[in-house]
Amino acid sequence: MTNFIIEPTATPTDPARRAELVANPVFGRVFTDHMVTIRFTEDKGWHEAKVSAYKPLSIDPASTVLHYGQEIFEGMKAYRTADGRISAFRPEANARRFAESARRMGMAELPEALFVQAVDELVKIDRAWVPSGDGRSLYLRPFMISNEVFLGVKPASEYLFIVIACPVGSYFSGGAVSVWVSEHYTRAAPGGTGEAKCGGNYAGSLVAQAEAKEQGCDQVLFLDARERRYIEEMGGMNVMFVRDDGVLVTPPLGGTILRGITRDSLLRIAADNNITIEETQIDIDDIFEGAASGRYREAFACGTAAALSPIGRLRRTGGEAVFGDGSSIGPVSATLRQLLMGIQAGRSNDVHGWIHPIV
Ligand SMILES: *Cc1c(COP(=O)(O)O)cnc(C)c1O
Repeated sequence: MTNFIIEPTATPTDPARRAELVANPVFGRVFTDHMVTIRFTEDKGWHEAKVSAYKPLSIDPASTVLHYGQEIFEGMKAYRTADGRISAFRPEANARRFAESARRMGMAELPEALFVQAVDELVKIDRAWVPSGDGRSLYLRPFMISNEVFLGVKPASEYLFIVIACPVGSYFSGGAVSVWVSEHYTRAAPGGTGEAKCGGNYAGSLVAQAEAKEQGCDQVLFLDARERRYIEEMGGMNVMFVRDDGVLVTPPLGGTILRGITRDSLLRIAADNNITIEETQIDIDDIFEGAASGRYREAFACGTAAALSPIGRLRRTGGEAVFGDGSSIGPVSATLRQLLMGIQAGRSNDVHGWIHPIV
């Protein structure tokens, strides 16, 4: 265990105001009273682990992150569980992925135990900010930036790791989303950074996301960069399909798809419940034909923010694929969603040891 310097805020949010914010959470706009910071320098290694008031950073204009974008992040949640405790869901998996992202981006690796402890420290001090109720949680955003003051192009020698948090409600409105298939832009190429959770991947996806909006869709789906033929993932969520034989189909990991922890959890839950899984290349034409013929019955996106969102329709130039009635969640998707959320909320037996109690 690392000793964190704890400097509680001198100006905590008024409890009545906080209660109001926690009762009506808005994603990503309201943050808790504190943040965690840990510094890295080549001579000292990781040091100055601190919990202090949430506040703006002061950064030199020549800080490397502002020029060359060495930045990685994680997204995870802490829930009020049925036993009255506050628990995180698989934080060790986020810690491991964060270290893998750091390696890919040439950044210093934060020890996994320190990552988990940092998240725990923030949740402990800001425990009053964790909402209760269905689908509600405290969204945690650990991230790391390079901050050496230097315009030369090389992996930086200094880094800053930070954790911030915001109360969030259920992303899920109940309805299915519409998804635009990007035929021009791709998200990741073999050998690239697709498997790293870095801000740059998001920056590169935003123009495609804007195109999806112009086409009247909620989200964008990317195809492989080589052939523009095989389904990869959305801008920030993995995708799965349910075939008429009940098989759950999803693209395989292989360097260009982010290793979603929700994806992994759903595949394991499916296996636990005797649902057959196929991790296989999925041809976009086959999906359009299969949706029309009824061979593909359900489609959904999955990720920490929304858990599981049904996809009602996929659209591309000159065509539309509709799943089910195009607006409501399918039976297999609904079952998987309930099973996952049951474990996260501490209502179901945690057979895999995914729940990490914090307070
Ligand atoms: C974070 C992310 C996901 C989902 O990962 P989870 O661990 O399930 O939240 C999927 N795709 C991309 C590109 C992501 O950044």
